[in-house]
Amino acid sequence: MKETVYDWLIVGAGLFGAVFAHEKTAQGQKCLVIDKRSHIAGNIYTEKVNGINVHKYGAHIFHTSDKEVWSYVNRFAEFNNFVNSPMAVYHDELYNLPFNMNTFSRMWNIKTPAEAREKIESQIKDLNIKEPKNLEEQALSLVGTDIYEKLIKGYTQKQWGRECKDLPASIIRRLPVRFTYNNNYFNDHFQGIPMGGYTQIAEKLLEGSDVKLNCEFADFKAQAAKEGIGWKRILFTGPIDEYYGYSLGRLEYRSLRFETEYLPEEENYQGNAVVNYTEAEIPYTRIIEHKHFDPADEAKGTYITREYPLKYTGVEEPYYPMGDAGNTELYDKYRELADKDPEVVFGGRLGLYKYFDMDKIIRAALDCAKEN
Ligand code: UDP
Repeated sequence: MKETVYDWLIVGAGLFGAVFAHEKTAQGQKCLVIDKRSHIAGNIYTEKVNGINVHKYGAHIFHTSDKEVWSYVNRFAEFNNFVNSPMAVYHDELYNLPFNMNTFSRMWNIKTPAEAREKIESQIKDLNIKEPKNLEEQALSLVGTDIYEKLIKGYTQKQWGRECKDLPASIIRRLPVRFTYNNNYFNDHFQGIPMGGYTQIAEKLLEGSDVKLNCEFADFKAQAAKEGIGWKRILFTGPIDEYYGYSLGRLEYRSLRFETEYLPEEENYQGNAVVNYTEAEIPYTRIIEHKHFDPADEAKGTYITREYPLKYTGVEEPYYPMGDAGNTELYDKYRELADKDPEVVFGGRLGLYKYFDMDKIIRAALDCAKEN
């Protein structure tokens, strides 16, 4: 039997794996990319149904201030001028996000930045927060008690399944707080959605690599030798604890469940791509309406997706790493194992156990392909 030896076995055909494969192929190396799902592109996977590009694993909005990453990604798709400006619903009240003068003026019936600052100041002066130690203190010190109670507390507790007091402040620092009338959810220089969806990006990145779908790493390892397939090194983009057989313990993740509905008679369900539901009593965190990300003339009807946060028990899809102290400490121990392991390199949200946005994934994959 003729043996094929790849330079790289890449486990996971998501954004990290695909960028890495592209770079290695360009360096003249041979890559085999495997994925347990039936499609490429990982969580950025979009599928065109009834003329609408549906984000199968939740909203993905590309934004970056990294010029090199922006021009890199634009080689694989043309981006539109989408700007994310979510709305927040709290009972019968409707607010603009992120927290900005539109939010403040709706909340307190005020007009000027000075009035908004004064209002926030008056709400937090008695709390005496110096160095915010957790998400609750961080949120209160940034926007005061009203916004915390109505727009942050319930949403965050649903999203993470934990009290805001038990979550790291860094999670809320992802969001801008502005004293201008500006509803752009991101501060980055560049933002948009690839016209025609994200899957084409992964398709183009994977040109020149061999790809095997519906292929579990553990099964494949056992099968490969029999089929005469070998490799020199592995890039693993699944959970790092899974790679090491959970030998040091299990890392915690937060999972999600998506409920997608096609409304054939509805032209425009909610008038916006993203609407957050911030009260604790509603079990989903947001509804996205896919057609608003990438408007297409031919689309009849509309697709909406409700996003339900879900406990991760080891069988669900792991989406968000829980970046608290205990998990970070455990990850560091796995990292020590990995650093001593010349056969494998880790990448992606799961392999690096980090809450990465897409641009940071591309940057990390480019760097990783240079360094290895
Ligand atoms: N957040 C909130 N209310 C909102 C939106 C966000 O309290 O309406 C908080 C929440 O703690 C969330 C964090 O901000 O986990 C980060 O939100 P982001 O939209 O960046 O989350 P992602 O889209 O990555 O899930």
